Amino acid sequence: MAPQRPIILSTWSFGRVANAAAWPILAGGGSALDAVERACIAVEDDPTIDSVGRGGLPDASGRVSLDGCVMLSPRRCAGVCFVRRFNHPVSSARRVMEQTHHVLLAGEGADAFAAAQGFTPEDLLTDEAHEVWRKWRDDPALLKGERYRGWLPPRNVEELRGIGDEAQRIAADEALPHNRTHDTIGVLAIDLNGTMAGACSTSGMAFKVPGRVGDSPIIGCGLYVDPQAGAAVATGTGELLMRTCGCFFAVELMRQGACPADAARAVIARIVEACDIVDDHQVGLITLKPDGTWASAALRSGFRVASRATDREELAPAGHVMLGGDEASEPLL
Ligand code: ASP
Repeated sequence: MAPQRPIILSTWSFGRVANAAAWPILAGGGSALDAVERACIAVEDDPTIDSVGRGGLPDASGRVSLDGCVMLSPRRCAGVCFVRRFNHPVSSARRVMEQTHHVLLAGEGADAFAAAQGFTPEDLLTDEAHEVWRKWRDDPALLKGERYRGWLPPRNVEELRGIGDEAQRIAADEALPHNRTHDTIGVLAIDLNGTMAGACSTSGMAFKVPGRVGDSPIIGCGLYVDPQAGAAVATGTGELLMRTCGCFFAVELMRQGACPADAARAVIARIVEACDIVDDHQVGLITLKPDGTWASAALRSGFRVASRATDREELAPAGHVMLGGDEASEPLL
């Protein structure tokens, strides 16, 4: 895509919510860092979004844990993971970046740090998310063919295999979802001064094994930003991005001269080559160069990028889809 400044790019259709909240900051000459934080907060604050912030679906034990990170450069970055009591992992991550020498705080320590920073604790589990979890816990058969099947921790996959007759199992396998409507909010922005920043925030996989942490809070996996080379942010099956250091890899390719589209494509190709891909795996990636040119790619169809610049606002499918054919590239808005 052609260079523009300021610009903000966010993952999935709820990226429009993120961009709308952040745009006044960028349009008013504010910083990219403020913009990406504000963008994530807008999605974290929406309890109807079941994969980010309060309202996110819990782990297998019924408790929500949140991950997120923020990055300006290798010198200025941080994340928090396994946060149980505070709704804004990106804001906590920003404080870790600004107030400590550390890059990652986890679990109780991350919660205690957020409390010490004056953030207000919240109950992250909504009644709606609890009800979805309760159904999952009490009757895993209900999940056959539904969208969370691919996220089940091993014990429950075994339980599912034991349920139903052969025809039901085949039907469930055929209905495997690889596109959930809600995932990580990942944001990249360049402000009027040309400063680039990125952030991401997620409640991770629904019904994950308690303690599981994905790519989103890990610098280089779910997000990487280097003002000399470019930026990348990712969503989807975190384990695939962690096995390949996906966002770091994309930025290094751009450092070596790859255009954003080639860098994004190469990450998806590497994931397919290096990992055992199953039907419900998905990865979506946005790549951005310091000059404002950007691109996106996905493992499968369904990924969307919400973009906003001075003269344009779009929700568009990934520029390149590795498996299952490219989608129409026209804007949806
Ligand atoms: N990447 C996130 C994780 O694995 C989830 C997602 O983006 O869907 O935790």
